[in-house]
Amino acid sequence: MENNKVQKGQLIVVSGPSGAGKGTVLAHAFDRYPNLRYSVSVTTRAPREKEVDGVDYYFKNIDEYMKMLHDNEFLEHQCVYGNYYGTPRKKVEAMLDNGYDVVLEIDVKGALEIKSRFAEAVMIFVTPSDRATIEERLRKRSTEKEEELMVRMGSAFEELKQAEKYDYIVVNDDAERSADDIAAIIRAEKCSTGKNKEFLNKLIYGGN
Ligand code: 5GP
Repeated sequence: MENNKVQKGQLIVVSGPSGAGKGTVLAHAFDRYPNLRYSVSVTTRAPREKEVDGVDYYFKNIDEYMKMLHDNEFLEHQCVYGNYYGTPRKKVEAMLDNGYDVVLEIDVKGALEIKSRFAEAVMIFVTPSDRATIEERLRKRSTEKEEELMVRMGSAFEELKQAEKYDYIVVNDDAERSADDIAAIIRAEKCSTGKNKEFLNKLIYGGN
């Protein structure tokens, strides 16, 4: 008998200090891995130049955001650099149920919250190979004022201390190679015994 049941997708959490180049790496990973979907977060932060509502973030005012929070619409949420950021629950659940692998690009606190609630989530920490690169990349981006830049730099170095809590570290010296690493991690996870328990049970004991 044909089994039409869609296999649930994989939840993938990607974090790393500002300036780690997560966005570029992920863009390449999406090219390589068509089953991957990006979870667009909700934020109260003002849009940066070139950012598009519904693509980069869903930009909301504080009242709209608080209503969503009150209505339990977030899978997790955090205040980062004085702005709120939340992962929309229903959208993520729908993508997972439809068999897509979903990437949450979120801060370390939010990531650890996800891991505590979804043990099966794959945690990937993306980082440059040295501290100077973090500073250089943050400055190059220079969308923030000097004061804000200092705050981001400080918390980037704080975030590095949390890296060992992740399942995988991807050192981003080369965005294309790092994207290969991410694709390889996802593939390996799909073959892990932990993710194939149901399959193995059927294989051993039969049934549908
Ligand atoms: P940015 O303002 O530079 O786009 O993002 C600032 C930080 O917020 C980054 O570390 C980013 O990963 C994190 N972030 C973005 N969306 C979310 C979210 O939905 N939840 C959490 N916890 N962090 C988020």
